[in-house]
Amino acid sequence: MKVPYEEEMWKRYREEIEKKMAYYREVISLIPSDVKSILDVGCGEGTFLKHLTSLERASIIVGLDVSETALKYVEGLKIRASAGGLPFRNGSFDLVTCLQTLEHLKQEVFIRAIEEIKRVTKKYIIVSVPNEEPLEYFLVVCPACGCHFNAVGHVRSFSPEILRELFSPDFSLKALRECGDLVEHPTYNRVLFGALRSYLKPPPPRGSICPQCGYVAKADKGRISYSQMPIFLKAVKRIADLLWRPKKRRLWLVALYERVIEGQTGNR
Ligand SMILES: [Zn+2]
Repeated sequence: MKVPYEEEMWKRYREEIEKKMAYYREVISLIPSDVKSILDVGCGEGTFLKHLTSLERASIIVGLDVSETALKYVEGLKIRASAGGLPFRNGSFDLVTCLQTLEHLKQEVFIRAIEEIKRVTKKYIIVSVPNEEPLEYFLVVCPACGCHFNAVGHVRSFSPEILRELFSPDFSLKALRECGDLVEHPTYNRVLFGALRSYLKPPPPRGSICPQCGYVAKADKGRISYSQMPIFLKAVKRIADLLWRPKKRRLWLVALYERVIEGQTGNR
């Protein structure tokens, strides 16, 4: 199936490489010194893989993604497959990385992906996900069927507590860091904000697809048009903005795991 505007999305990601340099450096700094083979699950258009090639001791680097369009941009070894079914033998790679992918996976694929990542890695796993993303806050409303959905297709949110247990008991968490840009993390009243969303019906951004009816947003109308709100609502929003001030927070969480060897006590 051809996904509308997908080409445009991957192209935009490639153009954002510069902005992500520091983030990738941070992730690479977590890679243990005895890693020689790496599989990147959900490699997308391959910008992280490109950074990985600077790691001279890694002689085998493979990118895997479900999107054929994204893989067109990937240089080097690549394979098209779902994260829920990795076409490799047990313990094929010293390290499996999975960056900005798990938050997109529906429950069924997610559960299989966790098992598959554990199966094909020999020693280590590195995972990166949005830092406690408030999924509700980014909901948009489908103009065709009225369904509320996350505009960037994120279906799950991760906290440090969730990450700690993600691959246990087979793998133990070795390092957990916050990284990426310092961004405003919204704090808000769920009831008030939900009411505002139902009233304003923020349209989905261009290229997003309604999971309920398949509507594809063609124009980018911006998130929420606060300027069109009636005066009394503007006043309420002013007060709400004072009460629930955004907190600054790093955009991403990155975690390193190591396989627990039987007979050894993991330091948990
Ligand atoms: Zn819809």
